[in-house]
Amino acid sequence: SLILGIESSCDETAAALVTSDRRLIAHKLAGQEAQHRPYGGVVPEIAARAHVDILPALVEDVLAEGNVTLADVDAIAATAGPGLIGGVMVGLLTAKGLALAARKPLVAVNHLEGHALSPMLSHPDLDFPYLLLLVSGGHCQLLLVEGVGAYRRLATTIDDAAGEAFDKSAKLLGLGFPGGPAVERAAAEGDPRAVPLPRPLVGSAEPHFSFAGLKSAVLRAHQAERWSVTDIAASFQQAVVDCLVDRTRRALDAAPQATALVVAGGVAANGAVRAALTTLAGEAGLPFVAPPLWLCTDNAAMIAWAGALRFEEGMVDGLDAPARARWPLDPAAEAVRGAGV
Ligand code: ATP
Ligand code: MG
Ligand code: FE
Repeated sequence: SLILGIESSCDETAAALVTSDRRLIAHKLAGQEAQHRPYGGVVPEIAARAHVDILPALVEDVLAEGNVTLADVDAIAATAGPGLIGGVMVGLLTAKGLALAARKPLVAVNHLEGHALSPMLSHPDLDFPYLLLLVSGGHCQLLLVEGVGAYRRLATTIDDAAGEAFDKSAKLLGLGFPGGPAVERAAAEGDPRAVPLPRPLVGSAEPHFSFAGLKSAVLRAHQAERWSVTDIAASFQQAVVDCLVDRTRRALDAAPQATALVVAGGVAANGAVRAALTTLAGEAGLPFVAPPLWLCTDNAAMIAWAGALRFEEGMVDGLDAPARARWPLDPAAEAVRGAGV
C-alpha cells in the first residue's frame, strides 16, 4: 500500500510518500529555523502559522514527485500528537480534509511512534523486540518495542529531555539555536575532560534519566570564567553521553529479550552519542541500529511509515480523531514524579 504522511508537531513542516514494503517514494521538509531564531527557541504561534502557509504546497510537491494523485494513495497518516497543539491541529486537519475529499482512511499517528519505528525504514533486517533509546527535544526514554503499537517504557527522564539539555546549554553558552548541532560543533574543538560536571543518576538502581542538574552545572562553569566555551561544550556532551550509556546498559540488563539496540530522535544525530552506543551494543553482543541523520530529526517519512504499518494492521482512525498535546506511547507507564511522560 501507498501512504501519504504529514508531520507538523514542532517546527518542521513535512510530507512524504512511503509504501508498506519500505520504499520511500518522495519526501519534503521545510524547516522554520530562521523564523524562530530571533526568539532563541520555537514560538508555537509562529510555528502553527508557518505550517498553514507551507503544508498544502508540500503535499502537492510530494504527490508530483511521486508521480501520483490522491486517488493512488491508500491512506493518509498525520501526526496527531504529542507536540505543540496548534501545529498538530494544522497537520491533522489537513489530513482529515484530504481523507474526506479523496474518500481515503485516516491514520492518526503518535509522533513518538514515528520516531520509534523509523529505524525499520532504513534497516530492513531490524526485528521486534528491540530496545529503543528515544532521545529527542521533548523526550528521553528507553522503550522495549515489541510490535506495532506495543511499547513498554522502561525508563524516562525525571526532569529535562536530553535534547532540551543540549538546547538549554547551547543558549547558556551563547551558541545559538538550534542547540544540539551547535554544541556538537563547539565540542569538536574542546576537551571533554576539561570541566568537572555531574552525571546525574549514573550507577543508580532506579532506571530513569535526569539532566536538570547537569544544565545548572554548565551555567555555573560558564559563570566561573575559568574554561573556554568549547571545553564546557565538550565536557557537557561527554556527560550526556555517559548518562545515556549508563542508563541504556542498565535497560539492556533488564531486557535480555531485545534483539538489537536502536537509537532514534534528534539527539541520535549526535556523533559522540552514536559512537558510544555502538561500543555499548558491541559489548552486549547486539547489533546497533541508528537511522540516517535526516530520519533522526523530525520528518514525515517516519509518520508515513508508522501509518503504513498501522494501516496494514487495520488500525485506522475516524475523522473525529483528536489532536493531543500529550500522548504517552506506553499508557501503562506512570508519570515519574510529575515529570512529562
Ligand atoms: P519530540 O520528538 O520529543 O516531540 P522534537 O520533535 O522537537 O521533540 P526532534 O526533532 O526529534 O525533537 O529532535 C530535536 C532535538 O534534537 C533538539 O533538542 C536538538 O537540539 C537535538 N539535536 C539535533 N541534532 C543534534 C546533535 N547533532 N547533537 C545533539 N542534539 C541534537
Ligand atoms: Mg526542529
Ligand atoms: Fe520529534
